[in-house]
Amino acid sequence: MQQVHPQNDERYDNICCYCQNSFKNNKTKDHIPSKVLLDEPFPENLPIVFCCYDCNQSFSTDEEYFACIIEYLVAGTKNIEKIERKKIKNILNQKKYLKNKIEANITENNGVLTIHFDESVLKKVLSKLVFGHMSYELSNPYIQTPNFIGFNTIDNLNDFEYQEFISDSFVDIIPEVGTRASLNHIIQNQKLISTWKIVQKNNYQYKLQILDNETVLKVIIRNKLYVIATWTNKTN
Ligand SMILES: [Zn+2]
Repeated sequence: MQQVHPQNDERYDNICCYCQNSFKNNKTKDHIPSKVLLDEPFPENLPIVFCCYDCNQSFSTDEEYFACIIEYLVAGTKNIEKIERKKIKNILNQKKYLKNKIEANITENNGVLTIHFDESVLKKVLSKLVFGHMSYELSNPYIQTPNFIGFNTIDNLNDFEYQEFISDSFVDIIPEVGTRASLNHIIQNQKLISTWKIVQKNNYQYKLQILDNETVLKVIIRNKLYVIATWTNKTN
């Protein structure tokens, strides 16, 4: 991945991007997205944010659960031999309690898989991803809580909705020069366009789009789950 070293305010280097508290000898680095969502070999220069030790520790079990749920959805079956990602297959083989917990909540009827997942865990992981991406892209740990975070599987979009979601989109405002997000914008036919940032092909991509009245972050995980977060922009 292409990387820039943003010219951000150094005071920001001392703030956890998840809880927004100042560090007290507890500063750690966190990959965003977490490595459990990516496969080896990892892309070079993975996005890194700074966060406090407690926040860093608090996510890993939930992220594992999240990554496993997605792989069951991709496989479309409880049969873990059908799970494509070796890393996730290993986790499920090693952590029987996790496998049992997920599989107890999966029903398979005529080839249709339904997963009753722990929504609070999914929301916690998605919120972390959203805060991490925005903080990284905008070089600022003070990210406001989105007005809306939603997620669903790509299969639930009709063709039109899918095209709209996936297409590079017009934007009204280019992020500040010097932020990483400013690099993911191109000008085409005199229009400003925001493009997807592919962290790892088929595993993870995201896109930030700033319009006059709202900011939109879109994420696609494993070409299966899509996430959308929006913030209302204050108009002066
Ligand atoms: Zn924190």
